[in-house]
Amino acid sequence: MRTIYVDKNIPRMLLVKAVKPVWRNVVFTPLSPAQFVDLPEPPLPGPRWVRVANRMCGICASDLAFLYVDADPKIGAAALPGNQRFYLGHEVVSTVTEIGPDVTKVAVGDRVLMHTRFQGANCLSQELETVCRQCAAGNYILCENASLGRGPRGVGGGWGDGYTAHETELFRAPADLSDEQATLVEPLAVGVHTVLRRLPEAGERILVLGSGIVGLNVIQAARALAPDCHISAIARYPQQVAMAARLGADEIISGEDGYRAAARITGATLYEGMMGSRMLLGGFDVVFDCVGAAHTLQDSLRWARAGGTVVLAGVRLEPLHVDLGPVWYQEVDLIGLNSHGMETWGGREQQTFALTIALLQQGKLAIDGLITHRFPLAEWREAIRTAQDKRSGAIKVVFDYR
Ligand SMILES: [Zn+2]
Ligand SMILES: [Zn+2]
Repeated sequence: MRTIYVDKNIPRMLLVKAVKPVWRNVVFTPLSPAQFVDLPEPPLPGPRWVRVANRMCGICASDLAFLYVDADPKIGAAALPGNQRFYLGHEVVSTVTEIGPDVTKVAVGDRVLMHTRFQGANCLSQELETVCRQCAAGNYILCENASLGRGPRGVGGGWGDGYTAHETELFRAPADLSDEQATLVEPLAVGVHTVLRRLPEAGERILVLGSGIVGLNVIQAARALAPDCHISAIARYPQQVAMAARLGADEIISGEDGYRAAARITGATLYEGMMGSRMLLGGFDVVFDCVGAAHTLQDSLRWARAGGTVVLAGVRLEPLHVDLGPVWYQEVDLIGLNSHGMETWGGREQQTFALTIALLQQGKLAIDGLITHRFPLAEWREAIRTAQDKRSGAIKVVFDYR
């Protein structure tokens, strides 16, 4: 089983952190905590376990953050006794090749998506007798027992030949979904979950800050779920500008000063203070920060109107230095999210994956043009470099194993 993983190997992680500013390709050498290996096929560790063979898998910014050791050991998540080994690749569609005797959710030959496994264990995957309140509500990724360390863990990930998983960590892909659509369900679900964290109302003006795959999927999810809101988007690269327009942004800000653009679009007043500090009174009803850098979060808070909301969808694995002034001064709500979970939509509760698949089937979400590059696994270095450098024209880069 060929697979790519990152080990929690502190000396190597410190080495890569120290060396990467001058030698970024150190992550592809034997010095890196990330390794491309060929492991013996692992046995299924229990009667409810499943083996799958991969068909296609996307490259996600979170995979790259692990690979390039972007995490700061001082963040809260690093305090949890998580996996010793992270298998990269979670935007993956696979075929079930073997099931344990007690598996009921999937059958051999089914196409499946990785659902919760990349996010770690939960009450179901650990087969705990009493489930926590988050798992009881279907929010498995927020499991309060995630760090108990009970039971076996799967081997292998989306970047490789296949993997093993507890049956509850998988999600069946319906037959009418193409492999391309199936691979994009996870990043689309992030867009859906982001928008449902603070659903725009009719006539509200929203801003999507960043038009990478997360931002683009937020744009199309907002168009699908809140068709009567006004969507502005900040896009940097030509492929992002074109796609943001195609997916339903009403106004695209590219190259224009963000403060002036926010004032122009919302009718807010821009005030310029000392030492480059600027502030709006008035602004967007909702800002979706799909970058999550210190400067984008600071700008998002200042571009939201009093009583408005900033939804933090971009993930940054290090402490940030940010002026949180608008949170108290303007009563701006700052909320975040972790990928996907349970949604209330159309009068019923459903997994974000189920809602996302339904929206794809109804044609309300689209994937045309989002997959810009495909690579075989053997060219993983080139695939990663392409995904990282958006001047390549990349939106979503995938490994195609078929
Ligand atoms: Zn992802
Ligand atoms: Zn739980």
